[in-house]
Amino acid sequence: MIPYGRQDINQADIDAVVEVLRSDFLTQGPVVPAFENAVGKYCSAQHAVAVNSATSALHIACLALGVGKGDVVWTSPITFVASANCALYCGAEVDFVDIDPQTYNLSVQRLQEKLIEAEKAGALPKVVIPVHLCGQPCDMAGIHVLSKQYGFKIIEDASHAIGGRYKDEPIGNCRYSDITVFSFHPVKIITTGEGGMALTNSDELAKRMILLRSHGITTLVVDRHVRPQQQLWNYQQIDLGFNYRMTDIHAALGFSQMQRLDEFVSKRHAIATHYDQMLSAIPVVTPWQHRDVYSSYHLYVIRLKLDEITKTHRQIYEALRVSGILVNIHYIPVYLQPYYEKMGFRAGYCFQAEQYYSEVISLPMYSELTEEQQVYVVQCLINSIS
Ligand SMILES: *Cc1c(COP(=O)(O)O)cnc(C)c1O
Repeated sequence: MIPYGRQDINQADIDAVVEVLRSDFLTQGPVVPAFENAVGKYCSAQHAVAVNSATSALHIACLALGVGKGDVVWTSPITFVASANCALYCGAEVDFVDIDPQTYNLSVQRLQEKLIEAEKAGALPKVVIPVHLCGQPCDMAGIHVLSKQYGFKIIEDASHAIGGRYKDEPIGNCRYSDITVFSFHPVKIITTGEGGMALTNSDELAKRMILLRSHGITTLVVDRHVRPQQQLWNYQQIDLGFNYRMTDIHAALGFSQMQRLDEFVSKRHAIATHYDQMLSAIPVVTPWQHRDVYSSYHLYVIRLKLDEITKTHRQIYEALRVSGILVNIHYIPVYLQPYYEKMGFRAGYCFQAEQYYSEVISLPMYSELTEEQQVYVVQCLINSIS
Protein backbone atom coordinates (compact mmCIF):
# COMPACT_ATOMS: atom_id res chain seq x y z
CA MET A 1 0.00 0.00 0.00
CA ILE A 2 1.26 3.45 -0.88
CA PRO A 3 -0.72 6.15 0.99
CA TYR A 4 -1.15 9.64 -0.43
CA GLY A 5 0.66 11.10 2.54
CA ARG A 6 2.33 9.99 5.72
CA GLN A 7 4.56 11.18 8.55
CA ASP A 8 8.35 10.92 8.66
CA ILE A 9 9.47 10.00 12.21
CA ASN A 10 13.08 9.38 13.22
CA GLN A 11 14.85 8.36 16.44
CA ALA A 12 15.37 11.99 17.49
CA ASP A 13 11.60 12.54 17.32
CA ILE A 14 10.96 9.47 19.46
CA ASP A 15 13.64 10.47 21.98
CA ALA A 16 12.15 13.96 22.27
CA VAL A 17 8.72 12.55 23.10
CA VAL A 18 10.13 10.04 25.59
CA GLU A 19 12.06 12.80 27.32
CA VAL A 20 8.81 14.67 28.00
CA LEU A 21 7.16 11.49 29.27
CA ARG A 22 9.94 11.21 31.86
CA SER A 23 9.73 14.89 32.81
CA ASP A 24 7.59 16.78 35.34
CA PHE A 25 5.13 18.24 32.83
CA LEU A 26 3.11 16.37 30.26
CA THR A 27 1.13 19.52 29.50
CA GLN A 28 1.48 23.24 30.30
CA GLY A 29 5.23 22.75 30.66
CA PRO A 30 8.19 24.34 28.91
CA VAL A 31 8.08 22.48 25.59
CA VAL A 32 4.96 24.14 24.19
CA PRO A 33 6.53 27.64 24.40
CA ALA A 34 9.77 26.24 22.95
CA PHE A 35 7.86 24.87 19.96
CA GLU A 36 5.95 28.12 19.58
CA ASN A 37 9.20 30.08 19.61
CA ALA A 38 10.76 27.78 17.04
CA VAL A 39 7.85 28.14 14.62
CA GLY A 40 7.44 31.87 15.26
CA LYS A 41 11.13 32.48 14.64
CA TYR A 42 11.21 30.31 11.51
CA CYS A 43 8.24 32.23 10.09
CA SER A 44 9.31 35.69 11.34
CA ALA A 45 6.00 36.11 13.15
CA GLN A 46 5.82 37.91 16.49
CA HIS A 47 3.41 35.52 18.16
CA ALA A 48 2.71 31.82 17.75
CA VAL A 49 -0.12 30.15 19.68
CA ALA A 50 -0.04 26.34 19.74
CA VAL A 51 -3.35 24.49 19.94
CA ASN A 52 -4.60 20.92 19.61
CA SER A 53 -5.54 21.19 15.90
CA ALA A 54 -5.70 23.60 12.98
CA THR A 55 -9.47 23.36 13.31
CA SER A 56 -9.21 24.81 16.83
CA ALA A 57 -6.77 27.44 15.56
CA LEU A 58 -9.25 28.50 12.86
CA HIS A 59 -12.03 28.68 15.43
CA ILE A 60 -10.17 30.91 17.90
CA ALA A 61 -8.75 32.98 15.02
CA CYS A 62 -12.31 33.76 13.89
CA LEU A 63 -13.40 34.54 17.46
CA ALA A 64 -10.37 36.77 18.06
CA LEU A 65 -11.32 38.74 14.95
CA GLY A 66 -14.82 39.17 16.34
CA VAL A 67 -16.67 36.87 13.96
CA GLY A 68 -20.19 36.24 15.24
CA LYS A 69 -23.87 36.13 14.41
CA GLY A 70 -24.78 38.29 11.44
CA ASP A 71 -21.26 38.13 9.96
CA VAL A 72 -20.21 36.44 6.74
CA VAL A 73 -16.91 34.64 6.16
CA TRP A 74 -15.67 33.78 2.68
CA THR A 75 -13.30 30.98 1.76
CA SER A 76 -12.38 28.71 -1.13
CA PRO A 77 -14.68 25.79 -2.00
CA ILE A 78 -11.62 23.63 -2.72
CA THR A 79 -10.44 23.02 0.82
CA PHE A 80 -10.96 20.80 3.81
CA VAL A 81 -14.30 21.46 5.51
CA ALA A 82 -12.60 22.98 8.57
CA SER A 83 -11.75 26.19 6.64
CA ALA A 84 -15.50 26.89 6.37
CA ASN A 85 -16.82 25.22 9.54
CA CYS A 86 -14.88 27.65 11.76
CA ALA A 87 -17.23 30.46 10.74
CA LEU A 88 -20.30 28.33 11.51
CA TYR A 89 -18.94 27.58 15.01
CA CYS A 90 -19.09 31.33 15.64
CA GLY A 91 -22.68 31.61 14.44
CA ALA A 92 -21.65 33.38 11.23
CA GLU A 93 -22.53 32.46 7.66
CA VAL A 94 -20.13 31.08 5.05
CA ASP A 95 -19.83 31.80 1.37
CA PHE A 96 -17.42 30.60 -1.27
CA VAL A 97 -15.24 32.33 -3.86
CA ASP A 98 -14.48 30.28 -6.97
CA ILE A 99 -10.92 29.13 -7.67
CA ASP A 100 -8.29 30.17 -10.16
CA PRO A 101 -8.11 27.46 -12.86
CA GLN A 102 -4.29 27.50 -12.86
CA THR A 103 -3.32 27.55 -9.18
CA TYR A 104 -6.59 26.07 -7.81
CA ASN A 105 -6.43 28.71 -5.06
CA LEU A 106 -9.19 31.23 -4.40
CA SER A 107 -9.30 33.52 -7.47
CA VAL A 108 -8.50 37.13 -6.71
CA GLN A 109 -10.43 38.24 -9.79
CA ARG A 110 -13.53 36.35 -8.65
CA LEU A 111 -13.02 37.76 -5.15
CA GLN A 112 -13.01 41.29 -6.52
CA GLU A 113 -16.15 40.69 -8.59
CA LYS A 114 -17.94 39.17 -5.61
CA LEU A 115 -16.89 42.07 -3.36
CA ILE A 116 -18.33 44.60 -5.80
CA GLU A 117 -21.67 42.75 -5.75
CA ALA A 118 -21.59 42.29 -1.97
CA GLU A 119 -20.92 45.97 -1.42
CA LYS A 120 -24.00 46.87 -3.47
CA ALA A 121 -26.05 44.39 -1.44
CA GLY A 122 -24.57 45.64 1.86
CA ALA A 123 -23.27 42.16 2.61
CA LEU A 124 -19.48 42.45 2.68
CA PRO A 125 -17.56 39.66 4.42
CA LYS A 126 -15.99 40.24 7.82
CA VAL A 127 -13.19 37.76 7.20
CA VAL A 128 -11.77 36.07 4.09
CA ILE A 129 -9.89 32.79 4.56
CA PRO A 130 -7.57 32.08 1.62
CA VAL A 131 -6.25 28.50 1.63
CA HIS A 132 -2.76 27.76 0.32
CA LEU A 133 -3.84 24.62 -1.52
CA CYS A 134 -1.21 21.88 -1.79
CA GLY A 135 1.23 24.29 -0.13
CA GLN A 136 1.22 26.82 -2.96
CA PRO A 137 0.62 30.28 -1.46
CA CYS A 138 -2.34 32.33 -2.73
CA ASP A 139 -1.91 35.74 -4.37
CA MET A 140 -1.72 37.33 -0.93
CA ALA A 141 -0.66 40.77 -2.15
CA GLY A 142 -3.78 40.96 -4.32
CA ILE A 143 -6.06 39.78 -1.51
CA HIS A 144 -4.42 42.22 0.90
CA VAL A 145 -5.11 45.20 -1.39
CA LEU A 146 -8.78 44.19 -1.56
CA SER A 147 -8.95 43.80 2.22
CA LYS A 148 -7.91 47.43 2.65
CA GLN A 149 -10.41 48.58 0.02
CA TYR A 150 -13.36 46.59 1.39
CA GLY A 151 -12.44 46.41 5.07
CA PHE A 152 -12.27 42.68 5.72
CA LYS A 153 -9.78 40.73 7.83
CA ILE A 154 -7.65 37.85 6.54
CA ILE A 155 -6.90 34.44 8.07
CA GLU A 156 -4.49 32.41 5.95
CA ASP A 157 -5.36 28.73 6.18
CA ALA A 158 -1.79 27.55 5.69
CA SER A 159 -2.52 24.04 6.96
CA HIS A 160 -0.68 22.73 3.88
CA ALA A 161 1.99 25.34 3.69
CA ILE A 162 4.51 25.49 6.55
CA GLY A 163 7.97 25.71 4.98
CA GLY A 164 6.60 27.38 1.86
CA ARG A 165 7.52 30.88 0.74
CA TYR A 166 5.75 33.77 -0.93
CA LYS A 167 7.73 36.55 -2.63
CA ASP A 168 10.83 35.13 -0.94
CA GLU A 169 9.45 35.36 2.59
CA PRO A 170 8.17 32.56 4.82
CA ILE A 171 4.49 31.69 4.89
CA GLY A 172 3.35 32.50 8.40
CA ASN A 173 4.98 35.94 8.66
CA CYS A 174 1.48 37.47 8.34
CA ARG A 175 2.72 40.30 6.13
CA TYR A 176 -0.56 40.17 4.20
CA SER A 177 -2.89 38.78 6.85
CA ASP A 178 -4.06 39.12 10.42
CA ILE A 179 -3.54 35.50 11.39
CA THR A 180 -1.97 32.44 9.74
CA VAL A 181 -2.92 28.90 10.73
CA PHE A 182 -0.84 25.70 10.41
CA SER A 183 -1.89 22.06 10.84
CA PHE A 184 0.34 19.33 12.23
CA HIS A 185 -1.82 16.34 11.29
CA PRO A 186 0.39 13.40 10.23
CA VAL A 187 -0.21 13.90 6.50
CA LYS A 188 0.92 17.53 6.67
CA ILE A 189 4.50 18.81 6.30
CA ILE A 190 5.51 18.38 9.96
CA THR A 191 3.45 16.60 12.58
CA THR A 192 2.59 16.57 16.27
CA GLY A 193 0.06 13.71 15.87
CA GLU A 194 -2.79 16.18 16.15
CA GLY A 195 -2.01 19.84 16.49
CA GLY A 196 -2.12 23.30 15.05
CA MET A 197 -0.81 26.80 15.50
CA ALA A 198 -2.03 30.34 14.93
CA LEU A 199 0.54 33.02 14.13
CA THR A 200 0.05 36.78 14.27
CA ASN A 201 1.96 40.03 14.62
CA SER A 202 -0.82 41.59 16.70
CA ASP A 203 -0.32 41.63 20.48
CA GLU A 204 -4.06 41.99 20.95
CA LEU A 205 -5.03 39.04 18.72
CA ALA A 206 -2.37 36.82 20.31
CA LYS A 207 -3.66 37.67 23.77
CA ARG A 208 -7.26 36.85 22.79
CA MET A 209 -6.28 33.54 21.21
CA ILE A 210 -4.20 32.54 24.27
CA LEU A 211 -7.20 33.28 26.46
CA LEU A 212 -9.63 31.35 24.24
CA ARG A 213 -7.47 28.22 23.99
CA SER A 214 -7.62 27.76 27.75
CA HIS A 215 -11.20 28.30 28.98
CA GLY A 216 -11.03 32.11 28.83
CA ILE A 217 -9.02 32.00 32.02
CA THR A 218 -6.44 34.72 32.45
CA THR A 219 -3.25 34.41 34.43
CA LEU A 220 -2.36 38.05 33.82
CA VAL A 221 -2.81 40.14 36.94
CA VAL A 222 -3.63 43.26 34.89
CA ASP A 223 -6.66 41.51 33.37
CA ARG A 224 -8.10 40.33 36.66
CA HIS A 225 -11.13 42.01 38.08
CA VAL A 226 -10.47 43.52 41.46
CA ARG A 227 -12.22 41.57 44.20
CA PRO A 228 -12.78 42.76 47.75
CA GLN A 229 -10.76 39.87 49.09
CA GLN A 230 -7.83 39.58 46.70
CA GLN A 231 -6.55 36.05 46.76
CA LEU A 232 -2.98 35.41 45.75
CA TRP A 233 -3.87 32.01 44.30
CA ASN A 234 -6.70 33.41 42.28
CA TYR A 235 -7.20 32.87 38.59
CA GLN A 236 -10.15 34.32 36.77
CA GLN A 237 -12.29 33.32 33.83
CA ILE A 238 -13.03 36.51 31.92
CA ASP A 239 -14.33 35.06 28.65
CA LEU A 240 -15.90 31.82 27.39
CA GLY A 241 -13.02 29.77 26.05
CA PHE A 242 -12.21 26.12 25.37
CA ASN A 243 -9.66 23.50 26.19
CA TYR A 244 -7.74 23.70 22.91
CA ARG A 245 -4.30 23.39 24.51
CA MET A 246 -1.48 21.41 22.94
CA THR A 247 0.32 19.02 25.29
CA ASP A 248 4.08 19.03 25.83
CA ILE A 249 4.18 15.49 24.46
CA HIS A 250 2.83 16.72 21.13
CA ALA A 251 4.95 19.87 21.20
CA ALA A 252 8.11 17.81 21.71
CA LEU A 253 7.40 15.94 18.49
CA GLY A 254 6.69 19.22 16.69
CA PHE A 255 9.85 20.87 18.01
CA SER A 256 11.91 17.91 16.90
CA GLN A 257 10.23 17.84 13.48
CA MET A 258 11.00 21.55 12.99
CA GLN A 259 14.71 20.64 12.80
CA ARG A 260 13.95 18.80 9.54
CA LEU A 261 11.31 21.09 8.04
CA ASP A 262 13.53 22.45 5.26
CA GLU A 263 14.76 18.95 4.47
CA PHE A 264 11.17 17.68 4.26
CA VAL A 265 10.18 20.44 1.85
CA SER A 266 13.21 20.00 -0.39
CA LYS A 267 12.55 16.25 -0.57
CA ARG A 268 8.97 17.03 -1.60
CA HIS A 269 10.30 19.33 -4.32
CA ALA A 270 12.56 16.58 -5.65
CA ILE A 271 9.57 14.21 -5.74
CA ALA A 272 7.44 16.82 -7.54
CA THR A 273 10.17 17.43 -10.12
CA HIS A 274 10.45 13.71 -10.72
CA TYR A 275 6.67 13.39 -11.18
CA ASP A 276 6.66 16.42 -13.50
CA GLN A 277 9.23 14.69 -15.73
CA MET A 278 7.60 11.27 -15.71
CA LEU A 279 4.13 12.67 -16.41
CA SER A 280 5.11 15.05 -19.20
CA ALA A 281 4.02 12.68 -21.98
CA ILE A 282 0.77 11.56 -20.29
CA PRO A 283 -2.62 13.30 -20.79
CA VAL A 284 -2.68 14.93 -17.37
CA VAL A 285 -2.09 18.48 -16.16
CA THR A 286 0.74 18.67 -13.61
CA PRO A 287 0.77 21.36 -10.89
CA TRP A 288 1.51 24.82 -12.27
CA GLN A 289 3.61 27.01 -10.02
CA HIS A 290 3.46 30.80 -9.91
CA ARG A 291 6.91 32.45 -10.09
CA ASP A 292 6.33 34.27 -6.77
CA VAL A 293 5.94 31.08 -4.78
CA TYR A 294 7.95 28.27 -3.26
CA SER A 295 5.38 25.59 -2.45
CA SER A 296 5.76 23.23 0.47
CA TYR A 297 4.20 20.57 -1.79
CA HIS A 298 1.87 19.06 0.79
CA LEU A 299 -0.01 17.53 -2.14
CA TYR A 300 0.79 16.67 -5.72
CA VAL A 301 -2.47 16.95 -7.64
CA ILE A 302 -2.92 16.11 -11.29
CA ARG A 303 -5.91 16.87 -13.52
CA LEU A 304 -6.91 14.19 -15.99
CA LYS A 305 -7.38 15.45 -19.55
CA LEU A 306 -10.58 13.46 -19.81
CA ASP A 307 -11.24 14.52 -23.41
CA GLU A 308 -8.03 12.68 -24.40
CA ILE A 309 -8.73 9.63 -22.23
CA THR A 310 -11.34 6.91 -22.79
CA LYS A 311 -11.58 6.02 -19.08
CA THR A 312 -13.56 8.00 -16.53
CA HIS A 313 -12.26 9.81 -13.46
CA ARG A 314 -13.84 7.16 -11.26
CA GLN A 315 -12.37 4.25 -13.24
CA ILE A 316 -8.86 5.66 -13.00
CA TYR A 317 -9.27 6.37 -9.29
CA GLU A 318 -10.52 2.84 -8.68
CA ALA A 319 -7.80 1.21 -10.78
CA LEU A 320 -5.11 3.02 -8.80
CA ARG A 321 -6.71 2.02 -5.50
CA VAL A 322 -6.91 -1.61 -6.63
CA SER A 323 -3.16 -1.42 -7.39
CA GLY A 324 -2.56 -0.47 -3.76
CA ILE A 325 -2.06 3.24 -4.40
CA LEU A 326 -4.25 5.08 -1.93
CA VAL A 327 -4.87 8.11 -4.11
CA ASN A 328 -7.30 10.70 -2.87
CA ILE A 329 -9.40 13.61 -4.08
CA HIS A 330 -8.55 17.02 -2.64
CA TYR A 331 -11.27 18.19 -2.40
CA ILE A 332 -14.98 17.74 -2.89
CA PRO A 333 -16.19 21.37 -3.09
CA VAL A 334 -17.20 22.11 0.51
CA TYR A 335 -20.63 23.45 -0.46
CA LEU A 336 -21.51 20.09 -2.06
CA GLN A 337 -21.27 18.38 1.34
CA PRO A 338 -24.75 17.34 2.49
CA TYR A 339 -24.52 19.61 5.53
CA TYR A 340 -23.88 22.61 3.27
CA GLU A 341 -26.51 21.58 0.75
CA LYS A 342 -28.99 21.73 3.62
CA MET A 343 -28.06 25.41 3.94
CA GLY A 344 -29.14 25.92 0.34
CA PHE A 345 -25.94 25.54 -1.67
CA ARG A 346 -26.35 23.71 -4.98
CA ALA A 347 -24.21 22.13 -7.69
CA GLY A 348 -23.19 24.70 -10.27
CA TYR A 349 -22.33 27.37 -7.69
CA CYS A 350 -18.59 27.57 -8.50
CA PHE A 351 -17.87 26.48 -12.06
CA GLN A 352 -14.06 26.27 -11.88
CA ALA A 353 -14.14 24.41 -8.57
CA GLU A 354 -16.52 21.80 -9.95
CA GLN A 355 -14.53 21.44 -13.17
CA TYR A 356 -11.40 20.86 -11.10
CA TYR A 357 -13.17 18.39 -8.81
CA SER A 358 -14.39 16.34 -11.78
CA GLU A 359 -10.87 15.51 -12.95
CA VAL A 360 -8.44 15.84 -10.03
CA ILE A 361 -6.44 13.09 -8.31
CA SER A 362 -3.79 13.45 -5.59
CA LEU A 363 -0.81 11.18 -6.20
CA PRO A 364 1.23 9.92 -3.24
CA MET A 365 3.49 12.68 -1.88
CA TYR A 366 5.52 12.46 1.31
CA SER A 367 9.19 12.83 2.19
CA GLU A 368 9.93 9.11 2.44
CA LEU A 369 8.31 8.18 -0.89
CA THR A 370 11.00 6.32 -2.85
CA GLU A 371 11.89 6.66 -6.51
CA GLU A 372 10.82 3.05 -7.13
CA GLN A 373 7.44 3.79 -5.58
CA GLN A 374 7.07 6.85 -7.78
CA VAL A 375 7.88 4.81 -10.88
CA TYR A 376 5.27 2.25 -9.78
CA VAL A 377 2.65 4.99 -9.23
CA VAL A 378 3.24 6.44 -12.69
CA GLN A 379 3.22 2.99 -14.32
CA CYS A 380 -0.11 2.19 -12.66
CA LEU A 381 -1.48 5.56 -13.75
CA ILE A 382 -0.45 4.87 -17.36
CA ASN A 383 -2.04 1.42 -17.19
CA SER A 384 -5.25 2.82 -15.71
CA ILE A 385 -5.58 5.40 -18.46
CA SER A 386 -5.01 3.09 -21.42
C1 LIG B 1 -5.85 19.54 7.53
C2 LIG B 1 -6.54 20.81 7.27
C3 LIG B 1 -7.26 21.50 8.24
C4 LIG B 1 -7.54 20.95 9.60
O1 LIG B 1 -6.42 20.58 10.27
P1 LIG B 1 -6.53 19.74 11.63
O2 LIG B 1 -5.18 20.00 12.27
O3 LIG B 1 -6.71 18.32 11.24
O4 LIG B 1 -7.63 20.29 12.43
C5 LIG B 1 -7.79 22.73 7.93
N1 LIG B 1 -7.66 23.24 6.69
C6 LIG B 1 -7.01 22.59 5.73
C7 LIG B 1 -6.89 23.22 4.38
C8 LIG B 1 -6.45 21.35 5.98
O5 LIG B 1 -5.84 20.68 5.00
